[in-house]
Amino acid sequence: MSRPRVVIAGLGETGVLTAVRLAKRYDVVGISTKPSLVSGQELGLRLTRPDWWARDYHHAFESLAGLDRVRRVHGVLSGLDLDTKQVTITLADGSSAQEPYDVLVISTGVQNGFWRRPGLETADEVAAGIDDAHRRLAGAPSIAVIGGGAAAVGTAWNAARVWPDKQVDLYFPGEVALPEHHRRVWTKVRGQLEQAGVGLHPGHRAVVPPEIDRITSEPVSWSTGQAEVHAEAVLWAIGRTSPNTGWVPAELLDEDGYVRAGLDLKVPGADGVFAIGDVAATDPLRSSARNFTFKLLPRNIRAHLEGKPLKTFEPPKRRWGSVNGYQDDGLVVFTPKGQSFRIPRLPTDRMVRTHVVDRGYYRGVRR
Ligand SMILES: Cc1cc2nc3c(=O)[nH]c(=O)nc-3n(C[C@H](O)[C@H](O)[C@H](O)COP(=O)(O)OP(=O)(O)OC[C@H]3O[C@@H](n4cnc5c(N)ncnc54)[C@H](O)[C@@H]3O)c2cc1C
Repeated sequence: MSRPRVVIAGLGETGVLTAVRLAKRYDVVGISTKPSLVSGQELGLRLTRPDWWARDYHHAFESLAGLDRVRRVHGVLSGLDLDTKQVTITLADGSSAQEPYDVLVISTGVQNGFWRRPGLETADEVAAGIDDAHRRLAGAPSIAVIGGGAAAVGTAWNAARVWPDKQVDLYFPGEVALPEHHRRVWTKVRGQLEQAGVGLHPGHRAVVPPEIDRITSEPVSWSTGQAEVHAEAVLWAIGRTSPNTGWVPAELLDEDGYVRAGLDLKVPGADGVFAIGDVAATDPLRSSARNFTFKLLPRNIRAHLEGKPLKTFEPPKRRWGSVNGYQDDGLVVFTPKGQSFRIPRLPTDRMVRTHVVDRGYYRGVRR
């Protein structure tokens, strides 16, 4: 009897983590616009120390042992037929292909700024994009970061630490930044930003120019009335995300274009279809990328195929995790209750990387 076929639509963070857990048991096909796992995490590290970032957040698919059994298709998903249970893919040469599924995992994520683009790219193009953004910031004497979420805050802090000679400013609309984290997180992070010399500008709501998909250099004006600001490099990290769901039938989407999914990650009204990650409207924070659901989903797929009940995850009410990323002295993680703990460098490198990340998450990384 042939093994059930699972198609993973989008091999980003959650798609890869799901695929490596299913590959031994099922016939797994992964569809990806990139030839590598390009994580959406830790923008600040990526822009300021791209090589350091890449050790943890950018992996060629060939280096991930868990993907050896996954058949990978490099192309852009362009359609989904729920009746015949197959997806359509536009391949690099312009031709199209169909992949039938018993189970489909929608994990195409979101588009966000220049650092998360869903288009088809070669390895060289991915590398050039990362390098260009780094050089652009490295060459600018002054940097203005617009936004108040973790990507903006982490970028401002990392830039000020790596380039102490630059003027780095952070502009955000509220009284506090990191509004979706526990209030204690901002209190702590604000102190770190001040110590690093970042200029903090609360109450600044920028007039958003038409094109924020690049690092800009035009003056920034404010709908909150302050004087225009000039900086050599302006980074827009205002959380303007859009879901990569142009290929998904509208009946599966909510009013903002995200895929409707339950806390068991199942998509209602579509047999055998699951959604995970930033594209999945499971809860108000769409938090299924970061709450260990990459372990829940493979279990639920197996339960679905065996006709057993599915389990659910409990979404936290607040964001949690790291803000500044791995540093030379380790990794600071904030909990949903606003406490923080540091995993120091030595155990981070040896234990966390080897055992937790490489083996535990990815089922082996060939470094
Ligand atoms: C273990 C873990 C820890 C985390 N910790 C934190 C943390 O501390 N702090 C924090 O803020 N966040 C954290 N996150 C969350 C993280 O920031 C993002 O939410 C996560 O990267 C989103 O993953 P994703 O798979 O939904 O999207 P992505 O990683 O963006 O993957 C989507 C993929 O689909 C591809 N794609 C898009 N459209 C198409 C198409 N039409 N055809 C084919 N492919 C397509 C994209 O190119 C991309 O490769 C964590 C996530 C994980 C898994």
